[in-house]
Amino acid sequence: MQSPILLKYTQKTWDYSMKFIETRGNDGQKPEEVSFSYALLNPSASYGGLYSPLHLPTIDVEFLLEAKDMSYKELAYKLFKIFDMDIEDGSLKKALDRYDSFDSVDSAPIEKIEENLFVCELYHGPTRAFKDMALQPFGSIFSDLAKEQNQKYLVMTATSGDTGPAALKTLQNAENVKVVCLYPEGGTSDIQKLQMLSLDGGNLKVIGIDGTFDDAQSALKGLLASADFGDKLAHEGYKVSAANSVNFGRIAFQTIYHFYAYLQLLAKNEIKIGEKIDVIVPSGNFGNALGAYYAKRMGLPIDKIKIASNANNILTELITNGSYDLNKRELVKTISPAMDILISSNIERILFDKFGSKRTKELMDELSKNRCYKLTDSEQQALKDDFEAVYGDDDYSKEIIAKYAAKGYLMDPHTALCAKAHDANGKKTVMYSTAEWTKFSPSVLEAIEPSKKAFRDKDAIAQIKNSFSFTLHPDIEALLTYEAKDKKPINVSELEGAVLEFLK
Ligand SMILES: *Cc1c(COP(=O)(O)O)cnc(C)c1O
Repeated sequence: MQSPILLKYTQKTWDYSMKFIETRGNDGQKPEEVSFSYALLNPSASYGGLYSPLHLPTIDVEFLLEAKDMSYKELAYKLFKIFDMDIEDGSLKKALDRYDSFDSVDSAPIEKIEENLFVCELYHGPTRAFKDMALQPFGSIFSDLAKEQNQKYLVMTATSGDTGPAALKTLQNAENVKVVCLYPEGGTSDIQKLQMLSLDGGNLKVIGIDGTFDDAQSALKGLLASADFGDKLAHEGYKVSAANSVNFGRIAFQTIYHFYAYLQLLAKNEIKIGEKIDVIVPSGNFGNALGAYYAKRMGLPIDKIKIASNANNILTELITNGSYDLNKRELVKTISPAMDILISSNIERILFDKFGSKRTKELMDELSKNRCYKLTDSEQQALKDDFEAVYGDDDYSKEIIAKYAAKGYLMDPHTALCAKAHDANGKKTVMYSTAEWTKFSPSVLEAIEPSKKAFRDKDAIAQIKNSFSFTLHPDIEALLTYEAKDKKPINVSELEGAVLEFLK
């Protein structure tokens, strides 16, 4: 049964399912407008662009009141009904049941750590990072669609460490689906790498790349856009898709927890209905922050979306100075590797939403030609209407980890960077915790006890256990004794061959 309020919203905004258009305009070959399921299965748009919503539905105070006491699943269901996407009800419900496997009934619980600062923990899924929030239901819907269409799909993903395990986990043994996961060798934590290698096999293939995450992501984008590669896959009976946040199928699920965080503050009487909050998002590819932006555009009372970065602070530069310049930059390895990214894909969807496809294509063309683009003053201002940005280095991250560990709260090095953006005299603020600390335990140990360097994950976790009581997730526990076979990383030039070999 649909509630009357829901009918009102679906009727008010949509008489037809949500449509998607392309961030760089249409090339005359691809369809001009597509549905959610099309964009999910075929995420690569004209001129190397991305699919983005043509319109977003809106919610208001009445909606927030009605949703206040809903479970995470109920809320996700309501919001998806408002989006009105072309996913069958049964398939949607089945996808949302994946949240039942999370180790918190809330799926995304909130902890108060300062008078006006709250941590929303997005890591209670099976791979202990926020990627599960979207990839768990995404995988379920993806394999349903592949089955329904009787089409075999190759899902490709590049990972800086957390997307890979989450994408492999959600699609393990999925019918009609094979997954290839690329990771930068040496660029992930032990646990992240073991999570992937322990899943290698069956319909899953894990490939270490000799290079950085940006190299892996560029190689992936190149293959996705290549007609020749597409033909070769077709010959093997496959179509190709991607599980990175270039896929809108992920972004849709990444709007939900921003609503949920707000509603939890409301339910705990921390804010009044309609009161604006700030959110702080540790960002790399900007998928999480984009979810917050869409939630705000839909009417969720968010004032500023504050972007936290590490030393690879290209987003700080863009938001504070309006320039995106790769020329003077080299990727720096940090203790927050999921944010060791210089080419942040989802910024493109913000540019598109604010400035349209013609301007977005112009900026993206400039970026690929000159490795740099500059926004005009008014464009820069338009970004600042919604965003602020800060960055912190590794020492800062460790300082914050130590500060909160002393109060009994453990956080990972990505989450810790959020503290930099917090204004103690400002609005009530939600910062997002994007990974459980257990995925980055050597850095956490070093933060708490600076003399303890160069520990392996396994030993670091054992050391931390001496001072803190916690229960390890059984999957992480199992990895501590897992013996991985060593695999030689491959050069990106060998990638296509390796992928085709796997499909044979
Ligand atoms: C993926 C990830 C991020 C970055 O998220 P984006 O959506 O790519 O900006 C931050 N922290 C952790 C732990 C992650 O896994």
